Amino acid sequence: MSNATVGKHPCPECGGDLQWNAAKQSLVCPYCGTVVPWTPAQAADPGTAMVEHDLETALRNPEVSRDWGEQRREVQCQSCHAISVFVDGKVAQRCDFCGSPSIIAHESQKDAITPQSLLPFKISDGQVRDLIRTWYGSRWFAPDKLKRAALTDTLHGIYLPYWTFDAHVEAHWTADAGHYYYETESYRDPQGNMRTRQVQRVRWVPAAGQLAHFFDDRLVAGTAGVAPGLLAAVEPFPTTTDLKPYSPEFVRGWTVERYQVDLRKASEINRADLDNRVRALCSNEVPGDTQRNLQVDARYHGRTFKHVLMPVWLVSYTYGSRRFQIIANGYTGKIAGKHPYSWVKIFFAVLAVILAAVIVAGLYLSFDNPQ
Ligand SMILES: [Zn+2]
Ligand SMILES: [Zn+2]
Repeated sequence: MSNATVGKHPCPECGGDLQWNAAKQSLVCPYCGTVVPWTPAQAADPGTAMVEHDLETALRNPEVSRDWGEQRREVQCQSCHAISVFVDGKVAQRCDFCGSPSIIAHESQKDAITPQSLLPFKISDGQVRDLIRTWYGSRWFAPDKLKRAALTDTLHGIYLPYWTFDAHVEAHWTADAGHYYYETESYRDPQGNMRTRQVQRVRWVPAAGQLAHFFDDRLVAGTAGVAPGLLAAVEPFPTTTDLKPYSPEFVRGWTVERYQVDLRKASEINRADLDNRVRALCSNEVPGDTQRNLQVDARYHGRTFKHVLMPVWLVSYTYGSRRFQIIANGYTGKIAGKHPYSWVKIFFAVLAVILAAVIVAGLYLSFDNPQ
């Protein structure tokens, strides 16, 4: 497909390129300030952009790509290996993910799948700074000097790459269902007397069944720049309800990370995730009090995928020789992060606890021995 499929909607006043503004939840012209509400009619190719793609077809021939609708440049960080995409020609001098200055131009792959839809930023720059200050303020043992503005100087709004998968599953299961029953048993106690007690036993009965389930929008992250544990802590993103079709206005002026978990790898991760879930669903169906030997035969059909972008705010900073990341969900404002510990504060906190213990112990002693 050509560039023409991606609609361009310049500023109605001056013809400038519009950009998504999170605070106004509208497109704004960076040149003359004109605010233009976003409507579905401005979508790249309304009606088709949100369509799920058949997974098997795409794995055989990964050309589901549309254009980004704009000239773009890609750079790769030599330190953390994250690949950043800039659609407005302006390229960052340092890596948005780790702050490293060693970034080099990255040749974009022709068969790379372009995003079909995204969640536009809902949390603005100002809001996220407040949220991060509050979050950091609640970390008791974090060093004070990081609480000042320096912490949020390196704030970047980034669209992270995700894959979402849908699938129908039909599963057959067999298992041994265990039913508890109790028997009275005689035994001799340590004094040599005969006594009786109730003992739990299990009656095993073969069981079998089947179930059908539809999995909607299971996410697999494709990022190389954010640690998986940190990202999981700010999920979920409301992908089933609030996605917008991709349009260059949404990403212009923001950094987009290029996925590094490719479709094949992501589909394998998704398959393992689905297998686990199907197994859990089947396990729930087994009657009785306990179970063993669960065997599941799952058949998937209609597996589809989308490549989508999710908004996050990222702060990365070094303290001493270590690097720390704080991440905020750009849609819900949920925050997670690592921070250094102030050993001075911890020392005094421990000292205070010891002192308190000594005082309490002293009070007890004086009550025990009234003079
Ligand atoms: Zn304008
Ligand atoms: Zn980096």
